[in-house]
Amino acid sequence: MPIQDSRLPIEYEPVIGLEIHCQLATQTKIFCGCRTSFGAAPNTHVCPVCLGLPGALPVLNRRAVELAIRAALALGCTVHPTSVFARKNYFYPDLPKGYQISQYDQPLATGGHVVVGKTAVQLTRIHMEEDAGKSLHHGFVDSAEKTCVDYNRAGVPLIEIVTEPDLRSAADAAACFSQLREALVAVGATDGNMEEGSLRCDANVSLRPVGTSEFGAKAEVKNVNSFRYLQRAVEFEIERQRSVLESGGRVAQETRQWDSETGTTLSMRSKEGAHDYRYFPEPDLPPLRVDEAWVAQVRAAVPEMPEARMARLMATHGLSDYDADVLVRLLPGAADFFEATVAAGASAKTASNWIQGEIRRMLKEVGSDDLAAMPFGPDALAELTQLVDTQVISSSVAKDVLAEMWASGQSARAIVETRGLVQIGDAAALEAIVDAVVAAHPGPVAQYRAGKTQTFGFLVGQVMKASKGKANPAAAGEILKSRIAN
Ligand code: ADP
Ligand code: ZN
Ligand code: MG
Repeated sequence: MPIQDSRLPIEYEPVIGLEIHCQLATQTKIFCGCRTSFGAAPNTHVCPVCLGLPGALPVLNRRAVELAIRAALALGCTVHPTSVFARKNYFYPDLPKGYQISQYDQPLATGGHVVVGKTAVQLTRIHMEEDAGKSLHHGFVDSAEKTCVDYNRAGVPLIEIVTEPDLRSAADAAACFSQLREALVAVGATDGNMEEGSLRCDANVSLRPVGTSEFGAKAEVKNVNSFRYLQRAVEFEIERQRSVLESGGRVAQETRQWDSETGTTLSMRSKEGAHDYRYFPEPDLPPLRVDEAWVAQVRAAVPEMPEARMARLMATHGLSDYDADVLVRLLPGAADFFEATVAAGASAKTASNWIQGEIRRMLKEVGSDDLAAMPFGPDALAELTQLVDTQVISSSVAKDVLAEMWASGQSARAIVETRGLVQIGDAAALEAIVDAVVAAHPGPVAQYRAGKTQTFGFLVGQVMKASKGKANPAAAGEILKSRIAN
């Protein structure tokens, strides 16, 4: 019988919710016509609106709304017919107006979920907002410590996606972030470029004794921009809070910063409450109206999600789960190439095999995995597969033809004709080759007749070799069998 010991350590369960900022893939900013392109010289993409000069008025970018709706649809959210922009007031040098235009109590969308392992992580909301500028800490200039501000990012369109506190491990938090990125990139809502800051994640982490239902005080780790860092930041935070609680302390409700150099989180400030921001409706923008027709129009333009596309390829082309996964998710451009090859007359299984086999191998040789880098198109591949399927060439010759197509850009048919590669299916010609092979290899033939049937494969190989790969292997095999049978 186990002995009850009240001094046994309490076991804690992590509770995690994410807030993800995602830059929408527009050409211009959310409330002005300044460009959003990355890497420009500081303060070259700015105007009175995004610099917050007095009297300048914001005008909402329709494209940004469309991309936000796409994101909402990709994640199964409800898009609301009316949402309201609000001013979130705070002082910081990178925020030229002294407030951020965001959405508060009436966000663009709510609901939806992301599946992580066996958990459906519920989404609280998706709202639209503008990004702030960027402080550049230059160190000492003219013996004074200087910080400069670049406002190129100020006014770049973002959505913020907030999850419910449904996650229970650091690995699941990272997986959730990654799933969200995949969905958002797949629908073209964002370029998903994490090094350029297109996706940033805040992780809210708390602990509670296992078996209890109330949430503990949380810390919010700000602006983590990689999946691996997110996992490490949450792992660190779980351990930090565990040791605070185990030593009898209380977790402070605060905002913390991830330091990738040390792999730790550091306290930045105690957490603001919503009242600190004095939110109020933005007087310079009318409520955002998104009617059903607009949602339907965006829905029609949204590219198919990977899961849906895999299911469709399996249903309409009889592909296996594995093949569909490789074509849709593993090889960029492969699903498009595959569908176009089939549309041009190739059989689905053959097209899939060529793409995953020879084409993938040849791409790897040139250091790529993207079918956009192919020197020929789906029509050319379809022609090659048809030459195999109609037994004009053997599949081993087809590999050489493919290599030649790659090198010269010529069509399969032209290569087959100029190099005289047409398959030998003619019985008399095949018989002559088979007879020569049988005569040249009395040993293996005798072994075959003595019951060692594995030598059959060797003999077929010799026939293919003697015919320079042009023999129809099935027909040659039949003739060979009849010649060496006892
Ligand atoms: P706040 O008022 O601090 O902004 P919210 O309720 O708006 O908190 O939630 C912000 C994020 O924090 C959401 O992703 C939510 O799921 C998560 N969250 C809320 N409470 C907790 C908690 N106790 N532990 C972990 N995450 C939490
Ligand atoms: Zn501007
Ligand atoms: Mg909040």
